[in-house]
Amino acid sequence: MFYAESMARLIEAFKRLPGIGPKTAQRLAYFIIKLPKEEVETITRALLEAKEKITLCSNCGNLTEEQPCVICKDMKRDIGLICVVQEPRDVLAMEKTGEYRGIYHVLQGAISPIDGIGPEDLKIKELLARISDNKVREIIMATNPNVEGEATAMYISRLMKPLDIKVTRIAHGLPVGGDLEYADEVTLARALEGRREF
Ligand SMILES: [Zn+2]
Repeated sequence: MFYAESMARLIEAFKRLPGIGPKTAQRLAYFIIKLPKEEVETITRALLEAKEKITLCSNCGNLTEEQPCVICKDMKRDIGLICVVQEPRDVLAMEKTGEYRGIYHVLQGAISPIDGIGPEDLKIKELLARISDNKVREIIMATNPNVEGEATAMYISRLMKPLDIKVTRIAHGLPVGGDLEYADEVTLARALEGRREF
């Protein structure tokens, strides 16, 4: 055994985080041990507080401390325009473009038969309910430009067909196979601008 037991546990915990391999996990663990106790407490408190306070917006599925979230509450937004994304972090990516003034719907994933995720596992029913409640003119499918994202966009666009709502897909300029959140703001803004109808 190279590490003390609690050190090994800390490294294991870091290894569970996305994008953190064994080397980085080890580096983080050594870094934490060297920090003053108060700083470690600040980090720990931030983790717990975020976990305790943040929930999904009951309306759109974005992360929020209040119900509904600030975007849903914003009266200046165009509620006739819904941007459908996979994850809450994609809302942030779209907001950063500064180009979008509509509202959102977060699916909490994408259709992926390999991972056993079907349409019923996503917030699609909720999307349909929101559409029937409001005067929606256009649905912008901003799912990821990969197989799962495309399949999800296609599925939802077919559902919308009989409802007589314009469904568009952002695509132009986005790297195929990538994640929405990794696209830079300019590329994403152009993709939004260049959306095409299904
Ligand atoms: Zn919301």
